[in-house]
Amino acid sequence: MKTDHINVIGAGLAGCEAAYQLAKRGIKVHLYEMKPEKKSPAHSYDGFAELVCSNSLRARNIENAVGLLKEEMRLLDSLIMKAADATEVPAGGALAVNRYEFSDYITEAIKNDPNITVIYKEITDLSELEGITIVATGPLTSDGLFKDISSRISEGYLHFFDAAAPIVTGESIDFSKVYMGSRYDKGDDDYINCPMTRRQFDTFYRALVTAECAEVKDFEKHGVFEGCMPVEVMAKRGYETLLYGPCKPVGLEFEDGTRPFAVVQLRKEDDEGRTYNIVGFQTHLKFPEQKRVFRLIPGLENAEFTRLGVMHRNTYINSPKLLDRFYRLKENDEVYFAGQITGVEGYVESTASGLYAAISAYQQFNGKEPEVLGNESAIGALAAYVSGSRSFNFQPQNINFSIMAEPEKNYHSKKEKREQIVAHALKAVNDYIEHTEVI
Ligand SMILES: Cc1cc2nc3c(=O)[nH]c(=O)nc-3n(C[C@H](O)[C@H](O)[C@H](O)COP(=O)(O)OP(=O)(O)OC[C@H]3O[C@@H](n4cnc5c(N)ncnc54)[C@H](O)[C@@H]3O)c2cc1C
Repeated sequence: MKTDHINVIGAGLAGCEAAYQLAKRGIKVHLYEMKPEKKSPAHSYDGFAELVCSNSLRARNIENAVGLLKEEMRLLDSLIMKAADATEVPAGGALAVNRYEFSDYITEAIKNDPNITVIYKEITDLSELEGITIVATGPLTSDGLFKDISSRISEGYLHFFDAAAPIVTGESIDFSKVYMGSRYDKGDDDYINCPMTRRQFDTFYRALVTAECAEVKDFEKHGVFEGCMPVEVMAKRGYETLLYGPCKPVGLEFEDGTRPFAVVQLRKEDDEGRTYNIVGFQTHLKFPEQKRVFRLIPGLENAEFTRLGVMHRNTYINSPKLLDRFYRLKENDEVYFAGQITGVEGYVESTASGLYAAISAYQQFNGKEPEVLGNESAIGALAAYVSGSRSFNFQPQNINFSIMAEPEKNYHSKKEKREQIVAHALKAVNDYIEHTEVI
């Protein structure tokens, strides 16, 4: 239905960015936010775009994928990036902010925008809103709206928590130490097998059971760990537990018929084998500990992680089944999703999805089909990943170079490859701006 405004639900990172991008293009926005009356278990500040945990927006350098993503957003005049640059605090190579000044900056900008009407209300039924709506209610979407969304989409397409194993790039695996093959030869060479001797397993086991775990928030204690056991918890049950679980060597004999003491399997995340997940290694270890411990697995000594394991409460939809390239529901083109609820992971990624969803919604509002921003760019690659991932088990993802378009093979080093990716990305965003006149 044609209305004189677009609705945005949630004044978090994605929602504020979306509202700002729409308002600056002359669109009236109704922005719904349940705070301060009702707060999720992780939110405590009354201002908008609250950073619920770390105050870092991660790497600054544009030769790092998240640095590039931020730069692309600056080109597109992102409110969140303006706030971050204005309120930054010293943090070496990272862009960290004073979280209260950051939130206040954004709250002021949104409240003072004549095109934005803020409505303090929890939305529990999407049908109470008319016209185009962007749902940006985050990983801790209120229960009422969670129920309403689950009643509108197919069963099993709305997740309540995230239990993910780490993912590594194919190019960082040492193939001289691993072998291909499926258990009992069922299937093709679908898995990479990392064999361990008893001594290697002992070293790995000791490191795993003594590694430091991340803090479990009170609201995560029930529900998150019940369905799926972290690999370190399994290991602590006894020395042999992993040998009957995710390190089981049976059916994975070498060509000469001998059997390794233990085997860790890696499974393709994409058709080309650019990334692999470590099968059964969902974990709650601290991030630096994951890198230290999992690099003890033969073949992964120099592993480059595109995502580390997490086990936390996280509401997200099965976007590859539900959304199109513009974060829009395939079955109802008046409903967009943005932010962590789409299966992007992280502050910066959530913001980027809000930005792109809003520009697409603006184009639709004006009777045009939204323009594709290609996956040469980090913003476009995230949208393509979320809507097109062919992984059998869709998991939220940070931005990383392996989901972006590969450059032509005329590079001689990893550094040169990165430089090419960055140049192509910035060109794609500039072309998009010029072509669609989005600024
Ligand atoms: C505990 C926790 C810690 C995290 N730590 C980090 C971290 O350190 N670094 C990082 O990069 N990422 C982190 N994330 C992941 C993610 O980047 C953040 O959650 C990020 O804030 C997501 O942005 P968003 O805009 O999608 O949602 P949010 O920023 O959470 O915004 C959603 C907004 O919607 C409102 N809302 C919810 N339901 C309704 C409703 N029914 N009606 C109206 N309003 C509603 C909420 O009050 C909130 O203001 C963390 C996530 C969690 C849960």
